Amino acid sequence: MDDDSEDEDRSQPLVLAEPQPRPCAHCQIYGREDANSHEIRDCGYGSKLGDVPGCPLCNRMTHYYDGCRKRKRSPADRRHEDWKFLVEYRSGLPPVRTKMAWPDLVTNMQPTHGFPITKDMALQVRDNHRHGTQYHDPLTRTLGDVRKNLERLRASEVFTGMGC
Ligand SMILES: [Zn+2]
Ligand SMILES: [Zn+2]
Repeated sequence: MDDDSEDEDRSQPLVLAEPQPRPCAHCQIYGREDANSHEIRDCGYGSKLGDVPGCPLCNRMTHYYDGCRKRKRSPADRRHEDWKFLVEYRSGLPPVRTKMAWPDLVTNMQPTHGFPITKDMALQVRDNHRHGTQYHDPLTRTLGDVRKNLERLRASEVFTGMGC
């Protein structure tokens, strides 16, 4: 009897829970169960600087994207990864905090939906932020706009503080 129950316990299959979206380590606005739950990668809530700090690869606030150990090693892979995390996933959202200028990743490639908005615009919409909203910024609406404003964006959209 005792032996049986012990066996049963030991043979209990591991219950593998479905991976759940973790609450965003940056904004922490929505709990795990909330339909708006998301990770830093998809966060649209700009910081007081107008960018999204923390690491979009790890959903952690302990380091920025630039210093992430999970980033790809080879230049070609890294370029693709940078493009995805700093441009493609940021359509209509504030830029990720990084010392890289995302407009420099834009050559002839267009993101599927749109480009990141500027930090200035992120600050304008910050108080009314709701997850899932994508904004159009006149400065970054089209590839032509990004090219036209390239010098300005190169200067304004990078993080110049310490810590990356
Ligand atoms: Zn968030
Ligand atoms: Zn990371």
